[in-house]
Amino acid sequence: MDIVLATRNKKKIEEIKRITAGMAISIFTLDDFLGCPDVEEDGTTFEENAIKKAVTVARYTGKPALADDSGLEVYALSGSPGTLSARYAGEEANDEKNIEKLLYEMRLIVEEKRKARFICCIAIALPTGSVNTFYGYSEGRIGKEPKGFNGFGYDPIFYPDGYSRTFAEMNDEEKDAISHRGRALSEVQRYLREKMDFSKS
Ligand code: IMP
Repeated sequence: MDIVLATRNKKKIEEIKRITAGMAISIFTLDDFLGCPDVEEDGTTFEENAIKKAVTVARYTGKPALADDSGLEVYALSGSPGTLSARYAGEEANDEKNIEKLLYEMRLIVEEKRKARFICCIAIALPTGSVNTFYGYSEGRIGKEPKGFNGFGYDPIFYPDGYSRTFAEMNDEEKDAISHRGRALSEVQRYLREKMDFSKS
């Protein structure tokens, strides 16, 4: 089975490839379809953005497409940065600036109120137009300063529940096992296995 990953984020592509390794799936990326239109992530929900990306890519490539939209929700900030996670610090945002902004916004928030969660919504669209969505969550809290150098995004300030290390202090396998994306991808794995078994019978 072929699947096109509807993302240009190299870290996400690595994570998704790692998690789907061992399955009878050939992974393509947007680099294999250079003319594929970019999708503006202007939806108000993760699901809306993921569906929009997957449907656009499936239509253009004629292959099943997988898109994810993910982000961080801080409870004390009413769910911010949410769907704006990638651009939290503005148009020129990068991981460092986003973290700096979030730590500043949370400077007066005490330890017990620093709870947050990562969310990942994955959409798989078929060229026929049918779409399935899968969710994964990772609950935790936001630290007071960055720790660790692995991963990307807000990893250096996110302590998953039950751990005294941030995602950025974990190796890939540790993060995949408890991350929002790892969990959503487990659901995807189950769906694809069922689909492939079904197509054999
Ligand atoms: P998008 O899903 O590419 O629209 O952007 C999601 C943004 O949320 C990323 O740019 C990161 O800032 C943040 N994010 C999503 N998943 C993770 C993760 O696993 N670790 C750290 N930050 C993440």
